[in-house]
Amino acid sequence: MARSTTVTRTAIPLGSLTQRPAQGASCTECGSVRITHLSMNLTDGTPVDFTSCHVCAHKSWSHHGVELAVTDVLQRTRKVC
Ligand SMILES: [Zn+2]
Repeated sequence: MARSTTVTRTAIPLGSLTQRPAQGASCTECGSVRITHLSMNLTDGTPVDFTSCHVCAHKSWSHHGVELAVTDVLQRTRKVC
Protein backbone atom coordinates (compact mmCIF):
# COMPACT_ATOMS: atom_id res chain seq x y z
CA MET A 1 0.00 0.00 0.00
CA ALA A 2 2.63 2.50 -0.98
CA ARG A 3 0.92 5.73 -1.75
CA SER A 4 3.35 8.05 -3.40
CA THR A 5 1.00 10.64 -4.70
CA THR A 6 2.79 13.55 -6.22
CA VAL A 7 0.34 16.32 -6.81
CA THR A 8 1.74 18.47 -9.54
CA ARG A 9 -1.56 20.04 -10.47
CA THR A 10 -2.14 23.62 -9.58
CA ALA A 11 -4.97 24.15 -7.19
CA ILE A 12 -8.27 24.89 -8.81
CA PRO A 13 -10.62 27.06 -6.79
CA LEU A 14 -13.58 24.89 -5.98
CA GLY A 15 -17.15 26.02 -6.25
CA SER A 16 -16.61 27.61 -9.61
CA LEU A 17 -17.42 26.02 -12.88
CA THR A 18 -14.40 26.27 -15.10
CA GLN A 19 -14.32 25.44 -18.73
CA ARG A 20 -11.01 25.39 -20.47
CA PRO A 21 -9.40 23.69 -23.41
CA ALA A 22 -8.13 20.28 -22.50
CA GLN A 23 -4.44 20.28 -21.85
CA GLY A 24 -2.80 16.92 -21.73
CA ALA A 25 -6.13 15.31 -21.07
CA SER A 26 -7.61 12.81 -23.44
CA CYS A 27 -10.63 10.57 -23.75
CA THR A 28 -10.24 7.42 -21.68
CA GLU A 29 -12.24 5.55 -24.28
CA CYS A 30 -10.82 6.52 -27.67
CA GLY A 31 -7.82 8.62 -26.69
CA SER A 32 -9.02 11.72 -28.51
CA VAL A 33 -7.95 15.09 -27.18
CA ARG A 34 -11.11 16.70 -28.52
CA ILE A 35 -12.80 16.72 -25.17
CA THR A 36 -14.61 19.11 -22.93
CA HIS A 37 -13.22 19.21 -19.44
CA LEU A 38 -15.16 20.71 -16.58
CA SER A 39 -14.51 20.96 -12.89
CA MET A 40 -17.68 20.79 -10.86
CA ASN A 41 -19.12 19.76 -7.57
CA LEU A 42 -21.66 17.00 -7.26
CA THR A 43 -24.79 17.46 -5.17
CA ASP A 44 -23.12 15.89 -2.16
CA GLY A 45 -20.20 18.29 -2.44
CA THR A 46 -17.73 15.91 -4.07
CA PRO A 47 -15.44 17.90 -6.37
CA VAL A 48 -15.08 16.07 -9.67
CA ASP A 49 -13.55 16.56 -13.06
CA PHE A 50 -15.99 15.88 -15.85
CA THR A 51 -14.71 14.90 -19.26
CA SER A 52 -16.89 14.65 -22.35
CA CYS A 53 -15.49 13.38 -25.62
CA HIS A 54 -16.54 15.04 -28.87
CA VAL A 55 -15.52 12.04 -30.94
CA CYS A 56 -17.12 9.04 -29.26
CA ALA A 57 -19.41 10.90 -26.83
CA HIS A 58 -17.86 9.06 -23.92
CA LYS A 59 -18.34 10.83 -20.62
CA SER A 60 -16.36 10.27 -17.50
CA TRP A 61 -16.03 11.73 -14.07
CA SER A 62 -12.98 11.59 -11.89
CA HIS A 63 -12.34 12.57 -8.31
CA HIS A 64 -8.75 13.35 -7.36
CA GLY A 65 -7.60 11.49 -10.45
CA VAL A 66 -9.72 8.43 -9.71
CA GLU A 67 -12.33 7.72 -12.32
CA LEU A 68 -15.84 7.36 -10.96
CA ALA A 69 -18.45 5.01 -12.30
CA VAL A 70 -21.50 6.67 -13.80
CA THR A 71 -23.70 4.90 -11.28
CA ASP A 72 -21.55 6.28 -8.49
CA VAL A 73 -21.92 9.79 -9.89
CA LEU A 74 -25.67 9.39 -10.20
CA GLN A 75 -25.87 8.24 -6.60
CA ARG A 76 -23.90 11.25 -5.48
CA THR A 77 -26.08 13.63 -7.44
CA ARG A 78 -29.15 12.32 -5.70
CA LYS A 79 -30.35 14.07 -2.63
CA VAL A 80 -28.61 12.58 0.35
CA CYS A 81 -30.65 12.62 3.51
ZN1 LIG B 1 -13.65 9.39 -27.02
